[in-house]
Amino acid sequence: MRYVSSGREPVPSTGTMGEPGARGRFGAFGGRYAPESLVEACREVEEAFREAWADPGFRGDLAELLALNAGRPTPLTPARRLSRALGVQLYLKREDLAHTGSHKINNVLSQALLAARMGRRRLIAETGAGQHGVATATAAALLGLEATVFMGERDIERQALNVFRMRMLGAEVVPVTTGSRTLKDATSQAMRHWVGVTGDSHYCVGSVIGPDPYPWMVREFQRVIGEEARGQCAAELRTGVPDLVVACVGGGSNAAGTFAGFADTPARLVGVEAEGGAGAARGRPGVLHGCRSLFLQDDDGQITPAHSIAAGLDYPGVGPEHAHLRDLGRARYVTVTDDEAAGAAVRLARTEGIVPALESAHALAWVIRAAGGGELPAGSTVLMTLSGRGDKDTSTLKELV
Ligand SMILES: *Cc1c(COP(=O)(O)O)cnc(C)c1O
Repeated sequence: MRYVSSGREPVPSTGTMGEPGARGRFGAFGGRYAPESLVEACREVEEAFREAWADPGFRGDLAELLALNAGRPTPLTPARRLSRALGVQLYLKREDLAHTGSHKINNVLSQALLAARMGRRRLIAETGAGQHGVATATAAALLGLEATVFMGERDIERQALNVFRMRMLGAEVVPVTTGSRTLKDATSQAMRHWVGVTGDSHYCVGSVIGPDPYPWMVREFQRVIGEEARGQCAAELRTGVPDLVVACVGGGSNAAGTFAGFADTPARLVGVEAEGGAGAARGRPGVLHGCRSLFLQDDDGQITPAHSIAAGLDYPGVGPEHAHLRDLGRARYVTVTDDEAAGAAVRLARTEGIVPALESAHALAWVIRAAGGGELPAGSTVLMTLSGRGDKDTSTLKELV
C-alpha cells in the first residue's frame, strides 16, 4: 500500500504496534510481574486470546456484537466551524456515540466474549469513576455473565449515578476500604481477589496496562477505532491519511487503538496527558500492577498520586507500549492543564454541539493550543479521537458555565 503525504517530511514506518516481543515486552517495557498463581492465569488468557484472535468465528461474533450492541462503526465527523476558526481540518472519531458513552465498551465486550469462550462465568473489574465498571456490568448482562466490580469507598460516595447503573445492570459493587480508598487500592484488591478464583472468573482490565497479555490484548480490542478511522480518512481526505493523529492518554487504550490504525503511515502520533497525570511525558521506569512502564515517582521510587479534573486520566502511569513508542520517537506525549481542558470542552460544545468527556477535551485542548501557536501549519489535517461524552462530567463542568 502507498500513502500520499501532504508534502511535510514523512515519519518512516517503524513496523511498530504488532505483537510484543518475548515475555510481553515492548522494548524495555511490559512483562508479567505477578505472583505465580496469576502468572499461570495470565498464560491461560494469552493462550485463549491468541486462539480466538486467529479464529474467524470469534472475529465474526465480535463484529456482530460491536455493530448491533455497541453502535459500531462510529462516525468520523468533520468539526467544520471549529476547523475554520483554528485554520486546520479537524476530524473527530466519535467514540462518544458508542453504547455507554465511550470507547471502553469495545474492550469489555471483547473480553467478555473471550471469557465466555474460556468457560468463565464471572467478570472481575476495578473502577475509579465507574466508567469501566458500568461498561463491564453492561457486557456481563449482555452475555449472561456475573460481574463483581471493586470500587474505592471514596469513589462510591462521589459517583452515585454510576454505582446505581452498575447495580441496575445486576453487578455486585464491592467497596474497597483500604489505603486512599480509590482506584489504585481497588486495582490491588481486584488482583488479590482474582488469585483465589482464576478458574471461574476472568479479570477484565480496563486499559492497556497490567501484566502481559493485557496491554497487547486490550490494544488489539481497541484497534477497531484506528482501523475504522483509517478507512474513513481514506474516503474523506484528499491525502488519504491525516497529518496528525491525536488522542488523550490515561492508561492509553483509546490512544493505542487509534495509533494502531496509523502506525505504518506517515501520520504523526500525539498522545495528550493531564498535567497532573503525565506518566509518558514525565514518568520514570518502574513496576506497578504487573508491568514495567513509566510511572510518576518520588526520589525513593514511591508512586506519587495523579491529579486530574478528568477521572479517566487520573492514573500515575501509562501503558508499556506508550513508554516504548516514546522511546522510539514514533509518538510524542504532551500535557495540558485542567483549565485548558475545561475551556476546550466548552468550546467544542458551542461550536459543534458536542459535549465531550473531560478526558477527550484534553486532546482537543492540545490541538487548539498547537493550531494557535503555529505548531500546526495552516491547513493541516488532524484526526482526533473523541473518546467519550461529557454527561458524566456535568457536576465538574457546571462550575464553569
Ligand atoms: C477511561 C477513559 C479514558 C482514559 O482511558 P484510556 O485507557 O487512556 O483510553 C479516556 N476517555 C474516556 C471518555 C474514558 O472514559
